Amino acid sequence: MPRSSTTRGTDHDIHDVLVIGSGPGGASAAYWLAEAGWDVVVVEKKRFPREKTCGDGLTPRSVRQLYDMGIGNDIERYHRYEGLRAVAFGHTLELPWPSHSTFPSHGFVVARRDLDILVAERARKAGALVLEGVQAHEPLLVDVRAESSSKHGDDQGPVCAGALITDTASGSVGEIRARYVVVADGANSRFGRALGTTRNRSWPMGMALRGYYRSSSHDDPWIESHLDIRDKSGTVVPGYGWIFPMGDGRVNVGAGLLSTSGRFKGVNTTHLLEQFIAQAPRRWGLSESSSCGEPTGGRLPMGLSVGPRVIKDALLVGDAGACINPFNGEGIAYAYESGRIAAATVADALTTGDRGALEHYEKELQAAYGTYFKMARAFVKAISNPAAMRVLLGTGMHSTAVMEWVMRIMANLLRADHTGPAEATYKMLEALVPKPS
Ligand SMILES: Cc1cc2nc3c(=O)[nH]c(=O)nc-3n(C[C@H](O)[C@H](O)[C@H](O)COP(=O)(O)OP(=O)(O)OC[C@H]3O[C@@H](n4cnc5c(N)ncnc54)[C@H](O)[C@@H]3O)c2cc1C
Repeated sequence: MPRSSTTRGTDHDIHDVLVIGSGPGGASAAYWLAEAGWDVVVVEKKRFPREKTCGDGLTPRSVRQLYDMGIGNDIERYHRYEGLRAVAFGHTLELPWPSHSTFPSHGFVVARRDLDILVAERARKAGALVLEGVQAHEPLLVDVRAESSSKHGDDQGPVCAGALITDTASGSVGEIRARYVVVADGANSRFGRALGTTRNRSWPMGMALRGYYRSSSHDDPWIESHLDIRDKSGTVVPGYGWIFPMGDGRVNVGAGLLSTSGRFKGVNTTHLLEQFIAQAPRRWGLSESSSCGEPTGGRLPMGLSVGPRVIKDALLVGDAGACINPFNGEGIAYAYESGRIAAATVADALTTGDRGALEHYEKELQAAYGTYFKMARAFVKAISNPAAMRVLLGTGMHSTAVMEWVMRIMANLLRADHTGPAEATYKMLEALVPKPS
């Protein structure tokens, strides 16, 4: 339960939970654990405010989580948008966010430089100890058989009982011990890899690049996605280009590509973004002279392709566990949600003293996303064929009604309490996909 002391250096005090990384996944896990009264320490290798390469787009799923964490008022100061302007093959459709009983029908665009500090501060206010400029560089593995005082019972094998840490400013090293560890160190997840996680390379992965541009259309009420981006040879590639208005004089512009494309290795994302910017509608005013700086890129591990997500008593959340939606590359909402699910699971294990309760985390993830992500992976494979993509998009872009339900499926805003065309189509497709075990 809550404590006032922290474990640094050689002090071997044991926290309830150590969270590694204070992006959306880590900050959410920390908030929900601290809110429930547990003693949580978060290590974040950077100092806030810090940049994070992202499209900065918050969908209704993300907004719902931010409201639930009590930071709606802070978020509402940022640029609100009403839906998606989809552009492809000469057609443009404006698609408002669909209505839903659980999620709002609007989104926001918030630079991650601002967003992540808001959630970290929220976790702090709830009682979490957030240590900035502290990197977890190695798991602290403890053989439970050797630890007579362990609360882990008599199961065999080493468990993660904390981390070796470095203060990035002073270089001083130490360790933090905890009963449980939540790994939220993002797409590269070195900590997760050190514990033994791997990525299923036959499943899709995304690569994306983004930059900021000054634009007189910075307060456009729609985020814009171009679904027919092309490589150098003019061939449409699976992925999309985006222009997300920030409302502060800038737009966030990016291009993303899926690894299922046969041309994935050959496509240079810098060229892809340049090509997209050259083709983007002129009213955005995108050019070298309106650029705010060099674009930066990152990987998008998606569809639960990294696992195991419960390993050596540690739980992986957000990008570390590949929780990105393959349909649209959205990861912020899933990081908040998986952080919240992990927090509830760890709280259960702490309350009951039963580490076996941690296995429920994977079950909850599978229940929430298993079939949906499986379908998304199948969809991504299908659109990797340029001809199939042309047929799908060419047909869909002729009908606002069709694209509205496509958007409901792709943004995971299906209704449990209502069966419209989107829910009916989803159910039909779901029947074709074997359930995850
Ligand atoms: C170009 C691009 C555009 C994207 N656009 C969108 C979008 O518009 N909307 C959307 O929903 N998603 C988008 N995503 C995906 C989204 O950025 C991620 O899914 C999301 O950030 C995942 O959150 P996370 O907390 O898991 O990881 P991260 O946000 O990466 O946070 C990890 C944190 O851990 C810290 N850390 C790492 N290692 C350590 C360590 N060893 N010790 C201590 N701290 C550590 C990092 O500094 C970081 O703060 C985009 C991704 C990319 C690459």
